[in-house]
Amino acid sequence: MAALQIVHYPHPALRWKSKPIKSISPELRETVNNMFDLMYEARGIGLAANQVALPYRLFVINLTSDPNEPEEEFVFINPEITKRKGTAEGEEGCLSLPLLYGDVKRSEEITLEAYDLDGQLFEITLDDLAARAVQHEIDHLEGIMFPDRMVEAKRIELDAQIADFETVFRQQQQRGEFPSDDEIREHLAQLERELD
Ligand code: ZN
Repeated sequence: MAALQIVHYPHPALRWKSKPIKSISPELRETVNNMFDLMYEARGIGLAANQVALPYRLFVINLTSDPNEPEEEFVFINPEITKRKGTAEGEEGCLSLPLLYGDVKRSEEITLEAYDLDGQLFEITLDDLAARAVQHEIDHLEGIMFPDRMVEAKRIELDAQIADFETVFRQQQQRGEFPSDDEIREHLAQLERELD
């Protein structure tokens, strides 16, 4: 497999609704390791599979963003939010929209179920930054990015920067650094079929 890289908006993988993972292979573990490495390199606290152009319902989190704190690493496979409480507004950023920040309303506390890398189902209740990060990452698995969740008046202020990302990506496609959108979508569909 080609080396993974973090893709930026408007790469079509970021608008893809990811598919559940059925089994945990050695390749998947390798992918998860690579995702942590890329996340640390970019100084992020969370990374969804869509962000490395893989259509899998999986994301990784380390709220410390510090590779020397591996005990803070969490892998969420096929996550489902089962309970929500309260609302909290806070600033978010995204490794697929570097240097873009905006306020987003999220549930203050969430309970979710997910599988870990050993295939064990677990349930966890989270609040504060952890709850925000997890909701942000689960959105990625649905093809939703944080500006979609911003109030219109505030999002409009980011439109020029978002348009710049669009321009850069189309130039990269013209230079052959990325395939066309259709080719990318075909590849994502192929990866999904390989999950079966
Ligand atoms: Zn993000």
